[in-house]
Amino acid sequence: DAPAAGKVGARFDLEKETELRFEVEAGEAAEQVELELLTGMAEVFGSELNRNKKYVFGPGSKIAVFTWQGCSVNLYGKPEVAYVSKETPMLLYLNTHAALEQMRKQAERDNERGPRVMVVGPTDVGKSTVCRLLLSYAVRVGRRPTLVELDVGQSGVSVPGTVSALCIERPADVEEGFSVQAPLVYHFGSTTPGTNIKLYNKLTSCLAEVFSQRCEVNRKASVGGCIINTCGWVKGSGYQALVHCASAFQVDVVLVLDHERLYNELKRDLPHFVRVVLLPKSGGVVERSKECRRDTRDEKIREYFYGFRGVSYYPFSYEVRFSDVRIYKIGAPSIPDSCLPLGMSQDDTQLKLVPVTPGRDLTYHVLSVSSAEDGEEGARKGIVESPVCGFIVVTNVDTQAQVMKVLSPAPRPLPRHTLLIMDIRFMDMK
Ligand code: ADP
Repeated sequence: DAPAAGKVGARFDLEKETELRFEVEAGEAAEQVELELLTGMAEVFGSELNRNKKYVFGPGSKIAVFTWQGCSVNLYGKPEVAYVSKETPMLLYLNTHAALEQMRKQAERDNERGPRVMVVGPTDVGKSTVCRLLLSYAVRVGRRPTLVELDVGQSGVSVPGTVSALCIERPADVEEGFSVQAPLVYHFGSTTPGTNIKLYNKLTSCLAEVFSQRCEVNRKASVGGCIINTCGWVKGSGYQALVHCASAFQVDVVLVLDHERLYNELKRDLPHFVRVVLLPKSGGVVERSKECRRDTRDEKIREYFYGFRGVSYYPFSYEVRFSDVRIYKIGAPSIPDSCLPLGMSQDDTQLKLVPVTPGRDLTYHVLSVSSAEDGEEGARKGIVESPVCGFIVVTNVDTQAQVMKVLSPAPRPLPRHTLLIMDIRFMDMK
């Protein structure tokens, strides 16, 4: 489209290897900002812009338009901030991509597997952005890398409270990120690994196993390798979880963003053949408040049910009888070692399925629908390690009638009857 009459863009002329950073105000009433490339070439987090196309960014977006060769762009609307920066770590990130690509070439030649990369660092250092960049660059040179998302607080793939893996087949869409088709998703149930670290590590191992199996039968996936995005919790059990992940996936490379101590600890604790690399964070990465994080999580759940931008979904609402489903929480509250029954360890309690009796307090909770076969007691054992096939939200509970009302992406009936409860709640304000 041509710019609306009277709508004048603010023009920015960028020299080579600089970036325009802008933020769109957050909040319901905020106006979106449009971006147009006028001359030259530019990219947003590794995805190239087309000339004379208007890209629309909604409230809360924080964007960098980087150019290798120089370009000019227009911004329409009122960004909260917009400035050009000459100081970016993009060259270092590109070199990292080049080194990974060398490893893929060598893997191809020697019939080995490609690089498995773990990206670590505290919150708000641009971990997800670096993952997106490296994946988009890899796919742009014809690779088929896998994104492993272990950030249960801010998942780029599924709803919060999950870990997942996604095969990347095309660069991220400039406005919408990676197209999420057929991801492999596991239920974790809360937004921080600390609530059940045993489960978190278990699910990391499950993902690693599935990925390795895929690599055995799919050469392109094997050569493409994986990029693992992790949580920002880098101390104590959070740190142990990173070490566990490195070993489960047998990672070859660890990229540490902006955290020298973490870099030194990982160098000390990981096997010597693992390349641990310290990279600076971009000055453009914006710190997000607790509220901002919560809003992003909420938005992610809303998107799951209602769609995003051009694509609207129409979720269903129906009643489910208590007697038709089995609801579990994973992990019993921990009890002192001395009180454990003989032969049982804390591990067992953290991975235990605890039946949940439906009551009022179930309202607004997000429930994962487990893909585990219904029924048999045998299947019960596999529930923790089974991927989920979707999510529902409880919108009302009628204890008298013994039914609950749910919001579901698909019409009745539920595809499976084993439900796993999350700590996470979603209030449907539509
Ligand atoms: P982390 O995964 O470490 O929590 P993210 O990669 O999600 O951090 O980055 C936090 C925010 O900063 C995101 O909204 C992202 O779009 C933004 N961001 C990242 N890099 C830049 C940059 N160079 N300029 C402007 N904003 C950026």
